[in-house]
Amino acid sequence: MSKEKIALFTIFGGTGDLAKRKLYPSLYRLYKKGYLAEKFAVIGTARREWTDDYYREIVVNSIQDLVESPEHAQEFASHFYYQSHNVTDIEHYDILKLLSETLDTRYQLEGNRLFYLAMSPKFFGVISQNLKDCNLLTAEGFNRLIIEKPFGHDYESALELNNQIRASFEENQIYRIDHYLGKEMVQNISAVRFANNMFEAMWNNRYIDNIQITLSESIGVEERGGYYDTSGALRDMLQNHILQVISLLAMEPPTRLQDKEIRTEKIKALQAVRLFKPEEVSDYLVRGQYGPSSISGEELKGYREEFNVAPDSQTETFVAGKIMIDNFRWSGVPFYFRTGKRLTNKGTQIDIEFKNVPLNLFDNNDEPLPPNVLTIYIQPIEGFSLELNTKKVGLGLETETLQLEHKHSAETTANSSEAYEKLILDCLNGDSTNFTHWDEVASSWKFVDIIRKAWDNEIVEFPNYPSGSMGPVESDQVLTKDGFKWHWCPDKQ
Ligand code: NAD
Repeated sequence: MSKEKIALFTIFGGTGDLAKRKLYPSLYRLYKKGYLAEKFAVIGTARREWTDDYYREIVVNSIQDLVESPEHAQEFASHFYYQSHNVTDIEHYDILKLLSETLDTRYQLEGNRLFYLAMSPKFFGVISQNLKDCNLLTAEGFNRLIIEKPFGHDYESALELNNQIRASFEENQIYRIDHYLGKEMVQNISAVRFANNMFEAMWNNRYIDNIQITLSESIGVEERGGYYDTSGALRDMLQNHILQVISLLAMEPPTRLQDKEIRTEKIKALQAVRLFKPEEVSDYLVRGQYGPSSISGEELKGYREEFNVAPDSQTETFVAGKIMIDNFRWSGVPFYFRTGKRLTNKGTQIDIEFKNVPLNLFDNNDEPLPPNVLTIYIQPIEGFSLELNTKKVGLGLETETLQLEHKHSAETTANSSEAYEKLILDCLNGDSTNFTHWDEVASSWKFVDIIRKAWDNEIVEFPNYPSGSMGPVESDQVLTKDGFKWHWCPDKQ
């Protein structure tokens, strides 16, 4: 059976950063692999007046590092068309409809349409409404809508946005992107759990002591200060990526590894996340903002000195905390997390710390045995490690800790599919496993809103961590007061 997918892509925001950096290269990768061949076309839209030829040049430039040959790149780009379009102008949708129909016939696209909203969320409602009102949705093929984050800035705004979109698209036609869900090793969490009996058997509060999730960035906000200053780490990272990773770690085994079954279990896990009372927020969460520092002779700016950031900004660039899941499997097991900008290293990893053996029979100078730790490396390294205690060679009964490790080679990682490529292919296949369902978005915002409200009522002393550290010292205390410590400490290496 041919693997070729047939569709018309309409990219709103076709001149933007996301389109150039992620979407065009991802479409080209799918083209190289034969998922896109003859029967596809792309309409790029944005306000600027560009010609098709100029647009194709931009597309070719964006895939420079990937091209097989200049001819192949030109062939690919010949499927791209540009339409100047103001998303709020109804008449522009009539022109878009005509072009869509022409391309549908020219490339035999069978009425399959994928609309990608790669622009500011404030336009998501109006675009989806106009797509329906101006008859851009087809009766004969599929109509799917991919939406970029952020989906609202709190529960109320997310609900309003969802209602607007739902007036034109059914839930099963909406693909809400969380690009973390396209990452190989995030998808691998299910394989670790459900393809290895030794782990799933122990995946509960009888054997796991705590779980630690770190999503750390070494860069600052760079040119995104304007956006970031209205968002902060809580909305930018916890509401989506971290809660999504937690739901994959915490969900019950689905009956099949398919979208409906997985989502049902993820939603149940998110709904079991304990909601804090406003007065409890400071017991569970810590926020931070990076200040200036000098590292190896390089002067790093503090957040408040960044472009488009208020000089007295109260926006957090770091958040750490403890999440509890109140169900039979996880009762009593803390899920610690931390995420921030300008931290020591770029890296995403999950450390699963198992409970200690009930009785230490070994002679370790009265030290307790270190716990077994399973680490899932997500980026930039991809792989696993498992820490085990073994007997030291020689006389006596002393132990030492060994690390069994598998890290994918740089070559495998470089050749593995890019997150956006996977997600676009999933959408073409009608598979929504790796996209967020409205019920997940709703549960996440309800959790995050409580924290935001509590924080907005207090002025904090920022900055409170120097660039290049692993965040404020209080983030360590979230664990130490429970008798644990961060397993991954790049700042202490
Ligand atoms: P961008 O500012 O680079 O691009 C925005 C696009 O929207 C441009 O093509 C612009 O011409 C177009 N546009 C603006 N107003 C318009 C109007 N009235 N009518 C028609 N077109 C209009 O933004 P971006 O960085 O590409 O981000 C797009 C979306 O993707 C945002 O929701 C952002 O949060 C999300 N996102 C971006 C990245 C990234 O790496 N850039 C990563 C994750 C999520």
